[in-house]
Amino acid sequence: MLTFENVGLRYGNGSEILSDLAFSITPRSFQFLTGPSGAGKTTLLKLVLLSLKPTRGRITLFGKDTETLDKDSVTDIRRRIGVVFQDFRLLEHLNLYENVALPLRVIGREETSYRAEVLELLRWVGLDERIASRPSVLSGGEKQRAAIARALIVRPELLLADEPTGNLDPTLARRLLRLFVELHKSGTSVVIATHDLALMDQYESARRLVLADGRLHVFE
Ligand code: ADP
Ligand code: ADP
Repeated sequence: MLTFENVGLRYGNGSEILSDLAFSITPRSFQFLTGPSGAGKTTLLKLVLLSLKPTRGRITLFGKDTETLDKDSVTDIRRRIGVVFQDFRLLEHLNLYENVALPLRVIGREETSYRAEVLELLRWVGLDERIASRPSVLSGGEKQRAAIARALIVRPELLLADEPTGNLDPTLARRLLRLFVELHKSGTSVVIATHDLALMDQYESARRLVLADGRLHVFE
């Protein structure tokens, strides 16, 4: 579903942050994307989300070369990828139910057609008693799970999460990992960018994509 071939990325006139990246992500796979802070994890996720263009090489997403996409293809690809940002990006003027439902409203779905789905997803992430709450009254872990629910409501084929356990204590981080593993078992490809070694130790058999010195090393 995703292939990088000899991808390089530099910001402005700086040196290459990422060099000769070559890897694939297949349907129904689970991987950690790791490496020290500043190694380029967020940058790599931005390349996948089409919010940055590679300065070298080729990225193929869902069978399409991303160099030559028309507007409709960009929209289509973005809808097939769910993202959980580090800073959650929940909207403060909406309650939890409305935040999670927003991507469906944006694509023009009627509330009667999605209400049950939103409630079910909020139950799955354990936030069914918080549906009327505003983001500001939620704990870090609750915000994290709300952001995950919002990313999943469009049933993406690929889920990207940037440092999802950054603000969580180890117990909550473990619970969150269980949600990601369950999601993977239900057929979604999952990429978790993290430098949380304890988290990765919870799932030792997962594939690891390791960024170091601008290069990517894959450990199956
Ligand atoms: P990570 O997510 O692994 O911490 P990032 O992808 O955020 O790493 O950053 C990789 C490197 O690229 C860092 O040195 C960072 O300072 C630099 N960088 C990130 N975004 C930009 C930008 N917009 N312009 C210039 N340099 C950037
Ligand atoms: P993090 O490392 O916490 O994942 P980022 O490094 O991506 O966060 O930084 C957040 C924002 O700041 C991003 O929009 C990124 O592009 C920008 N940014 C990061 N590093 C630099 C930099 N050295 N110069 C300019 N912009 C940067």
